[in-house]
Amino acid sequence: MQKGHIGVSTENIFPVIKKFLYSDHEIFLREVVANATDATQKLKTLASVGEFKGELGDLAIRISVDKKKKTLTISDRGIGMTAEEIDQYINQIAFSGAEEFLEKYKADANAIIGHFGLGFYSTFMVSKQVDIVTKSWKEGAEAVKWSCDGSPEYNLEPIEKADRGTDIVLHIDDENKDFLEESKISELLRKYCKFMPIPIVFGKKKDWKDGKQVETDEDNQINDTKPAWTRKPSELTEEDYKTFYKDLYPLTEDPLFNIHLNVDYPFNLTGILYFPKIKNSVEIQKNKIQLYCNQVYVTDSVEGIVPEFLTLLHGVIDSPDIPLNVSRSYLQSDNNVKKISSHITKKVADRLNELFKNDRKQFEEKWNDLKIFIQYGILTDEKFWEKAQKFCLLGNVDGKQFTFDEYKQLIQDNQTDKEGQLIYLYASDKNAQHAYIEAAVDKGYDVLLLDGQLDVHMVGKLEQAFEKTRFVRVDSDVVDNLIQKSDKPALELSEEQQEALKKLFGDNLPTVEKTTFQVQLDRLGESAAPVILTQNEFMRRMQDMAAMNPGMGFYGEMPNSYAMVLNTDHPLVKNLIGKEQTDEDAASIKQLMDLALLSNGLLKGEALTQFVKRSYGLIK
Ligand code: ADP
Repeated sequence: MQKGHIGVSTENIFPVIKKFLYSDHEIFLREVVANATDATQKLKTLASVGEFKGELGDLAIRISVDKKKKTLTISDRGIGMTAEEIDQYINQIAFSGAEEFLEKYKADANAIIGHFGLGFYSTFMVSKQVDIVTKSWKEGAEAVKWSCDGSPEYNLEPIEKADRGTDIVLHIDDENKDFLEESKISELLRKYCKFMPIPIVFGKKKDWKDGKQVETDEDNQINDTKPAWTRKPSELTEEDYKTFYKDLYPLTEDPLFNIHLNVDYPFNLTGILYFPKIKNSVEIQKNKIQLYCNQVYVTDSVEGIVPEFLTLLHGVIDSPDIPLNVSRSYLQSDNNVKKISSHITKKVADRLNELFKNDRKQFEEKWNDLKIFIQYGILTDEKFWEKAQKFCLLGNVDGKQFTFDEYKQLIQDNQTDKEGQLIYLYASDKNAQHAYIEAAVDKGYDVLLLDGQLDVHMVGKLEQAFEKTRFVRVDSDVVDNLIQKSDKPALELSEEQQEALKKLFGDNLPTVEKTTFQVQLDRLGESAAPVILTQNEFMRRMQDMAAMNPGMGFYGEMPNSYAMVLNTDHPLVKNLIGKEQTDEDAASIKQLMDLALLSNGLLKGEALTQFVKRSYGLIK
């Protein structure tokens, strides 16, 4: 029997491993199963180049729990190790066998995983003792047992073992007893090993018989060794993509469509991304993109690898080129990762463009669900914005959809003001702004409906991007002033008359909480309403922004300010010019202003009750 000292520089590396190496203890299982997968892949490689001439036989990796002995065993029928190899690969921690092997079999070995650093030693996070019972594939190799209790001392001795391959036996310590629970191991295998490339078997399949669960003869294989993303897109049907989606996210509604990623230069990356149907924000949090490294699950926090706006997508990304176990900030500055990120952006944009071009009808139908992703991308990613200009849509109040170019064509002639600015009219609430929309449409204008969560930001973005363009909400001014095409006729009133008229209304202004009114005069024609409320575009936008962004407190605390515009062309207003005010006039003035409030949804409570009462009095 050989006794020895594990070749690490610090005597007590194990406490370090136990505590700090991985914050998640559970990943030990992934590490050991990944090693077993590696060893099996290596054997397959050796067989394919003719170095291994024996029977491969059943290559499944088997996991078993012995509750009495308190052991968890992971067995493979891969290449195994000789005593020398244990010395080299296990005893000298820093020396990674995978790297040496890769060097030797570069061309064939790209399926080899095992770049997780101190993989095997992570087992000591949960074990008071670890045994390796292993027999190499090599002719005449002798089986050996390596055993270590977590101190830097180990035992190595010959042992009987019939089969080629390795058993890793973990003697689970008392603090980690839950790793002896079948349900726990099941859960972890499903999380980390669901798509590993070698069959992984955990006990037998269970069946219900006479109200009891019984074991069948069938192996309980927990993984799909050839998940959809590893296959060629040409081999896959729409149904396959959907099935895979359900596999990833059970109980989630069908996705809108998918993007199959397949890159081999300048880096390796495969995967399938899905545009989900978002029903509520809970689901956004729950279902995330999963990152794999050669079919081994790594993480579902892909921030930094995938552009932020695409973290809302679902699916899988698999790349051996993404450095693992490194800090997030390092990831973000890594050049490979940056390239991956911008490539994914490009792919997503290209696919959206393709969908738009090939099937515009379907694209338009899906627009409402897609919009949030596309706008988020436009607002946060310059590269995406450049591409998205071709397929981003603007919808109007009639539900028609236009590309940016199409919409510009549509409104160019009729909605350019006297300064040559193109005015995009929009509403943010079809019901509340109904009267204003109608007034604009009556004038032959087109009105966009911008009622999405990101539309306020989009307006800012588009104003910046489009030349000589302004977005104006339909209720931000009276319709004649929304798009000023020529200088307006001057008011036909003397200064004194104007002041008197303003005072008449000013003295009777309604009181609405957190709201101020300023009286203004304008000539709007006889058919327009006598009194109209408008809200300044700039101020309203600032308040909208503040509502979403608490940092802008100042604007959030400002009262809503409306202009109370009196139409001096209207007979009801005209009648009041130059008159001594009577009680009847006062009632009419209140009535006119209340009507304006009413059509803006601002007349409530007691004011509304009084309005109703007053109205009865006016009926003759
Ligand atoms: P890494 O996997 O990053 O190389 P590990 O510490 O997990 O690091 O493993 C060290 C080495 O031990 C591996 O590279 C491999 O050569 C060997 N090894 C580990 N597990 C097995 C196994 N089940 N069968 C054969 N060799 C193994």
